[in-house]
Amino acid sequence: LVELDRAHLIHPVASWRGHEAAGVRLLASGKGARVRDAQGHELIDGFAGLWCVNAGYGQDSVVEAATQQMRELAYATGYFGLGSEPAVRLAARLAEAAPGDLDHVYFTLGGSDAVDSTVRFIRYYWNARGMPGKDQFISLEQGYHGSSTVGAGLTAIPSFHAGFGVPYDWQHKIPSHYSYRNPAGSDDAAIIEASRAQLLAKVAELGGPERVAAFYAEPIQGSGGVLVPPKGWMRAMRDLCAELDILFVADEVITAFGRTGPLFACEEEGIVPDLITAAKGLTSGYVPMGAVFMSDRVYQVIADGAGAAAVGHGYTYSAHPVSAAVGLAVLDLYEGGLLENGRRMGARLMEGLRGLGDHPLVGDVRGRGMLAAIELVTDKAAKTPLPAASQPATRIFDRAWDQGLVIRAFGWGVIGYAPPLCCTEEEIDLIVARTRKVLDLTLE
Ligand code: PMP
Repeated sequence: LVELDRAHLIHPVASWRGHEAAGVRLLASGKGARVRDAQGHELIDGFAGLWCVNAGYGQDSVVEAATQQMRELAYATGYFGLGSEPAVRLAARLAEAAPGDLDHVYFTLGGSDAVDSTVRFIRYYWNARGMPGKDQFISLEQGYHGSSTVGAGLTAIPSFHAGFGVPYDWQHKIPSHYSYRNPAGSDDAAIIEASRAQLLAKVAELGGPERVAAFYAEPIQGSGGVLVPPKGWMRAMRDLCAELDILFVADEVITAFGRTGPLFACEEEGIVPDLITAAKGLTSGYVPMGAVFMSDRVYQVIADGAGAAAVGHGYTYSAHPVSAAVGLAVLDLYEGGLLENGRRMGARLMEGLRGLGDHPLVGDVRGRGMLAAIELVTDKAAKTPLPAASQPATRIFDRAWDQGLVIRAFGWGVIGYAPPLCCTEEEIDLIVARTRKVLDLTLE
């Protein structure tokens, strides 16, 4: 299989030649928070796949729901006025659960196309309001909003841009709130004020609010290294956007569905964005699905503006009945105790990781709920990053793997955690203990 993988399967992230040389690691099975590789080696999945298997592996009720839906009706399109029962029920339940007037849901296949869909919907919105000139989009440095071409342009990772002509000239960035390395210092109020000033300056540079369509932010920047904004940051940016009549999009692809505690991380700041994007935990990785949540305010404008004309947008697999059936089963698990367990385990994880703060390599410990990271440095006072050449992320990843732990190792020495919400206390403690072992081995 490793040879067949080398010969035929493309793994675009990371170097293709490097991947060929290392060979693929095949996972064979999973139950709860644990996975087994093809050799039978058992690991705790401290990263829930790719921040997605929130409900854990091998949940019988989810498998049952998918199987039954496949037997009953494997597919229904959302075109031509057609639909399916699970998609309607899931949309209604999510609309009920989502903050404020985010009452309208559009289903996609994952996060990138959810982000793409928001860009299209937002353009429709400003056209419908007679303001087609509001066509500039702003996101954050260290932000991740997908790998589709439009999404990659909003994403702030250089390797996602090179050779693609993105960011497009209508896509702009302002600096992240990255508290640990913020030029404005580590004071919450100063960071919030700096971000407000940076957004205002960018809007002015682009010709004023009448040119700017939307601002995108993740409640916690995930792929940028689990960067938690100061409390009040989301609220301040949301309010500023409202003042300027710029749509505020919360990209909750990682943070929704219990990752930080509640169903939506926005609930923690009590804010209601104009749009939310979600995916990952929505179907917990069992099948692909993403979603755009649209406020009633935005929905009514687009619907009125378009009138009877078609709003040309859609994917073959939007609102897929099997994905929707899985979404409903997973939601039952979240509401039936998993969110609660995730909150308790999240507190334990954060406490355990904070306990690693005494390790000579640990410069920063951050996170909320079951979304966390530690940032490694060689000098705590100077916050000197690990030299990437001598401690490549793959070495940290490999060491953790050998200890029976799957983590995410970011290139500049950040270790990311996003365990399934079904973790037991023992599993959380093992995640922390195995991490300490990895740090000790890294120090040697
Ligand atoms: N937005 C955010 C915040 C994400 O973290 C991701 C994926 N990590 C995406 C969008 C893209 O989602 P997908 O990979 O499902 O296309």
